[in-house]
Amino acid sequence: MSFCIAIDGPAGAGKSTIARRLAGKMQLVYVDTGAMYRAMAYHLLLKGTDFDNQDEISRDCQDADISIVYENGEQIVLLNGENVNPYLRSEAVSEKASVSSTNGDVRKRLVLLQQKLAEHTDLVMDGRDIGTCVLPHAQLKIYLTASVHTRAMRRYLELKQKGVSCALDEIEQDISERDYRDMHREISPLKKADDAMELDTSDLTIDEVVTAVYRLAVQKREAL
Ligand code: C5P
Repeated sequence: MSFCIAIDGPAGAGKSTIARRLAGKMQLVYVDTGAMYRAMAYHLLLKGTDFDNQDEISRDCQDADISIVYENGEQIVLLNGENVNPYLRSEAVSEKASVSSTNGDVRKRLVLLQQKLAEHTDLVMDGRDIGTCVLPHAQLKIYLTASVHTRAMRRYLELKQKGVSCALDEIEQDISERDYRDMHREISPLKKADDAMELDTSDLTIDEVVTAVYRLAVQKREAL
């Protein structure tokens, strides 16, 4: 059986940074499931799908062949054979991904792919439903949180550093809306698994969180 660490939590809680660093330290593969939902949303945007129409989403997601490969340790998402990484971080894709991810057919396809990846590979997988649905038998489950304001501020500083002009209150509003959709959807809503360790990262540095999670992960692996 493979050794799996599940990291879940809302947007901006630090999941991908922590998961990537942890995977590097433990020589595990890092799987970013949000990027798969983003690739699906990008596919639907290209097709001109009506995101208010669940039947259209169910129909149009069928011809998205999504897979992942690794180049120099970096996860590359292939959509129908094309590397779509450069298109996945836009605000439009972020917003639409949280809409199309409520669709049951989208989730079925992507969850199956994620479970297959974890069958024979030791990994750290991050997302919203990894501990509750994708990998319920993961040996370690972490639920990362931070206040909406802290998460919005992190995003604001990240965008400013890239030279993108943005307003903090708008980012805060977007994050609140995404949280609401992720936590209240019918299928696999974002919630802490009963056996997950919850960690509030609001007042912690990245190094502090990585150290805490690394300690737990090493203990789990040694106990196997
Ligand atoms: O984590 P990230 O912000 O890249 O995820 C984009 C969107 O994909 C989230 O807002 C969420 O709606 C969806 N998602 C999901 N389940 C996952 C990972 C992401 O529903 N396991």
